[in-house]
Amino acid sequence: VVVYSIAESIVKDSSFDLIEHLAYEIGRKVISSYEMIDAVKVLVRKPDAPVDGIFESMETEIAVRRSEAVISFGSNMGDSEQTIRLAIDAIKQIEGVEVKRCSSLYWTEPVGYEDQDDFLNGCLVISTYLKPTELLHNLQKIELDLGRVRTIKNGPRTIDLDILLMSGVRLDTEELTIPHPRMYER
Ligand code: ADP
Ligand code: MG
Repeated sequence: VVVYSIAESIVKDSSFDLIEHLAYEIGRKVISSYEMIDAVKVLVRKPDAPVDGIFESMETEIAVRRSEAVISFGSNMGDSEQTIRLAIDAIKQIEGVEVKRCSSLYWTEPVGYEDQDDFLNGCLVISTYLKPTELLHNLQKIELDLGRVRTIKNGPRTIDLDILLMSGVRLDTEELTIPHPRMYER
């Protein structure tokens, strides 16, 4: 009944250009409302869809699932410890992300471009129902908000947030590679 009323209110209160978007909205609302739910499958069937041809209905099925992910952070400019605290606080605020565990912080020597200060590094385990690219975009926004400017590759940075691993995810696109290819250098 509760799941039904979630779906009902979304269908009544909003309009969507694609039935996929409606399906995702329902899936996300259900998974975000119940912590014990790990995955939701949503089937949307639309009768009399405005598509040429003889169709009884259009339908789509989507899945929203929680993954565990490991996010690494590093900083070697400014007050690194403070910047990392702010980054972790910001990650906790991302809708659809729950921070489960946080490592200690470690000072490490730079890799690649060595003429720079040591880095303060660590990582977080999170649980999230966001898609990998959505997670990345949220992390990139936090990097920018905390004053990150992209200059030299592997050069000094106020904050670097990378996705190292994500359960059930293997990706290799121009924008995003998971597992992170340089994970073992970190
Ligand atoms: P670094 O490789 O030192 O982390 P940047 O933080 O400048 O360098 O990231 C460069 C690009 O790496 C980003 O624009 C992002 O699209 C891409 N990228 C690919 N895979 C990942 C990942 N797993 N986590 C974070 N960024 C990634
Ligand atoms: Mg990075």
